[in-house]
Amino acid sequence: MESLLRVIKNAERKGVAVGHFNVSNLEMLKAVSSVGRKLKLPIVIGVSEGERDYLGVNQVRDLIDSYNSEHFESGYRLYLNADHTYSLEKIKEAARAGFDAVIFDGAGLPFEENIRRTKEAVRAAKKINKEILVEGELGYIGRSSKLLDKLPKGAAIKTKDLPTAEQAFRFVKETQVDMLAPAVGNIHGMFAKARNPKLDIERIKEIKNAVKIPLVLHGGSGVSDKDFRAAIKAGISLIHVSTELRVAWRTGLEKSFRKNKNEIAPYKIMPGVLKEIEKVVERRMVIFRGR
Ligand SMILES: [Zn+2]
Repeated sequence: MESLLRVIKNAERKGVAVGHFNVSNLEMLKAVSSVGRKLKLPIVIGVSEGERDYLGVNQVRDLIDSYNSEHFESGYRLYLNADHTYSLEKIKEAARAGFDAVIFDGAGLPFEENIRRTKEAVRAAKKINKEILVEGELGYIGRSSKLLDKLPKGAAIKTKDLPTAEQAFRFVKETQVDMLAPAVGNIHGMFAKARNPKLDIERIKEIKNAVKIPLVLHGGSGVSDKDFRAAIKAGISLIHVSTELRVAWRTGLEKSFRKNKNEIAPYKIMPGVLKEIEKVVERRMVIFRGR
């Protein structure tokens, strides 16, 4: 199987981005997987600490292996990422379970402490599996994948608060992360009634020029198509989407309940939910692949 790093570097060369979608349950995984299969594209499945606790660290790995072995011929592949991880213990747990990538999230820490703890996480993860990719986070962008009515408290949005190319360069050099997610005007979560703030495309370019390694954009929900395209062109090669999938899950479930008032068979209720999630994933994937 092609390594995730290769997949991301290939995307970079082609001027497209790989999609990263968070899943909380089997329905979401089924929906994301079916879009990957339909479009014949690799996809990264993200599970946060909460999602891992719910799904089971080893169980989600097995599920993805099972999908991959069944569809090996089709050209689509699922990769598994331990999304936002805050402790060394959880980093090690994911590395031992055979995740393809882990994120150590020290974005809420002071800069020097973030460097020190991320470096520690890189060492610990690579000691368990030298192939695993470790992503670092620079600049606080909030933490929750939910519908917002105001900006997350303390989030770096204004140009003067965003990490600079110099900071990014030092962070990458000292921590030796494989991928970097800098704050570039993006936030976690999405506004219920408005667009998310605009991305700072210039800052993406500056950081990309300085660090050279793959850049990751978090908080893809609520970002405009135009901003996505410009961000990819400026150097983003992996994009995270979570909140939009959660919204689709809930909307789909409510619609399905209304439509099947007396139905009690989950496998008759859930296809409507899957369809709703698939629409979101496909719409995003099409933009990420520059189609
Ligand atoms: Zn994120």
